[in-house]
Amino acid sequence: DRMRLDGKVAYVTGAGQGIGRAFAHALGEAGAKVAVVDLDQDKAEAVTKELSLKGINAMSITADVSKPDDVQRMTDQIVSKWGEIHIACNNAGINMNSASEDTSLEEWDETFNVNLRGTFMCCQAAGRVMLKQGYGKIINTASMASLIVPHPQKQLSYNTSKAGVVKLTQTLGAEWIDRGVRVNCISPGIVDTPLIHSESLRPLVQRWLSDIPAGRLAQVTDLQAAVVYLASDASDYMTGHNLVIEGGQSLW
Ligand code: NAD
Repeated sequence: DRMRLDGKVAYVTGAGQGIGRAFAHALGEAGAKVAVVDLDQDKAEAVTKELSLKGINAMSITADVSKPDDVQRMTDQIVSKWGEIHIACNNAGINMNSASEDTSLEEWDETFNVNLRGTFMCCQAAGRVMLKQGYGKIINTASMASLIVPHPQKQLSYNTSKAGVVKLTQTLGAEWIDRGVRVNCISPGIVDTPLIHSESLRPLVQRWLSDIPAGRLAQVTDLQAAVVYLASDASDYMTGHNLVIEGGQSLW
């Protein structure tokens, strides 16, 4: 079964809740060992415990993907415990919300430091391990907002950072495939996670809902098979691409 991940070593950043947590469960259920990485130690440990209770081999790592030392320590810890890294899910991301004319440089920099610079640093650190192995699957979490501007706007730094994640993915995908490393990204639409229930986003969700042809928000379960596919040998001929899962929202 080419969708099985038995014997594979994976990590997921931002795995303490939401989409990353769902990715960690899906990869573990498909057979991978999973390093649960999050800024929030308690959340990372709680998800690690959930996985262990299912019989999945899991470890918890506290790391901030916007910090170079943390990113290096993350990959070092995984390699020293499990010897290899086959699957890297660079999923951690933040979303801040302001009218573009009011967007501060602090918001811009923080968003880019986590969403784009963090994703780059993780791709590079994991990529170096994978290039040495001659094998690897990198799956970045971008967003539908990389393609369209979901109505209403006020997401300039977020949208722009996620467009960067798609271009990063394309470029690395093209550069590394002849050495066995595939790089793809997933672009979810609006997913029912703690992120969208934040104070700033909650009022927008009702309005977004009317823009979704599928007539509902995505659930994290709508994304789980996609990450397993991109992590597995079944997707070996796919690299540099952006798998969009948004209930048709980018089509209207
Ligand atoms: P979430 O806020 O519910 O969870 C994010 C997790 O990442 C949290 O556990 C948080 O502690 C962790 N995190 C934040 N910054 C970090 C950092 N610097 N280093 C390590 N961990 C960090 O978010 P979510 O909805 O699960 O989103 C996950 C990813 O999916 C993000 O990249 C987000 O932009 C993207 N996304 C979300 C949606 C959505 O509608 N929820 C849609 C498209 C894309």
